[in-house]
Amino acid sequence: MRDHAAIKLAFWKSALSLPAGERVGPAPPELVQYIALDNIANDYPERPRATSPDPGLLADLKSAIADLPAEIWALFPKRLAGLYFVDGLGGTGYTDYVFDARGKPVAAFVVLDAGVLAGQSANAWATWKENTPFKADTRYKLEARIEAANGDNRKNALQYILLHELGHVFSVGTDIHPPWNTEPRHIAPASKYPFFDLSWKIDRKANKYRSRFDAGFPQRARTVYYFGAKLDASEMAATYASLHGTNFPSLYAATVPGDDFAESFASYVHVVLMNRPWQITLSSDGAPVATFKSCWDEARCAAKKNQLEQLLKSARKG
Ligand SMILES: [Zn+2]
Repeated sequence: MRDHAAIKLAFWKSALSLPAGERVGPAPPELVQYIALDNIANDYPERPRATSPDPGLLADLKSAIADLPAEIWALFPKRLAGLYFVDGLGGTGYTDYVFDARGKPVAAFVVLDAGVLAGQSANAWATWKENTPFKADTRYKLEARIEAANGDNRKNALQYILLHELGHVFSVGTDIHPPWNTEPRHIAPASKYPFFDLSWKIDRKANKYRSRFDAGFPQRARTVYYFGAKLDASEMAATYASLHGTNFPSLYAATVPGDDFAESFASYVHVVLMNRPWQITLSSDGAPVATFKSCWDEARCAAKKNQLEQLLKSARKG
């Protein structure tokens, strides 16, 4: 896999010469093969397949791009190898590095699951995703709301997924967090990752990332999205109460450093720059139990918000 064509800059040269908005379409066979190998390496049960996304889905993705703040989309022409559809990805989106001839990550490709996205509105997709860490139990309900009723459509589901993946692309070649292709114990002790440092520590002995909040957040280590829920539905309220004591903008952000930044980026652009809703509502036996909102107006996320704004500002200049 380390020598695969799909992760080499040379393979993406012609894609990178197109306008960024045109680097969109079915995944090339080399890419499908690479992500199939990656799923095997990670023990994911799904086997990605090539697909031709229907024209409506492509049109929705293009309009989701067109609808982004122009100054955000303008950050990506150099770093984004493109947005490509497959079927059977497992999860909804996936981003991985593209390396230059010296083995340095210089760009990234984004893969999206056409089948999962085919019929999803924004709130249905977000509700599905945010339920995946919890075992099904009809007594407990979690509802996510990322759009008002008049924007609750597939284009906006795609836009939120896209923003998360663009967060991963944004981090390429920066010191936001350690590279995701390197094991925690191999991160150089002297290296500095200011955004990462707000929430994470390296446990070299266990070869794991730990959050700085783990003592008050016992559910974090059992939070697994998409495959094999480990938390009982009865733990939803306690999990979100713990999350509120952290600087993570969402539960998914608390899983690994890379997703902390991707979620922070997506949530910040969506809520602060685009003025859209973001809310998780928990209920038990039909009665509301708790509401969890985006944190950008709360003191707990102030330092993170400040760093994000600085990062965006210097990216715009550079
Ligand atoms: Zn991610």
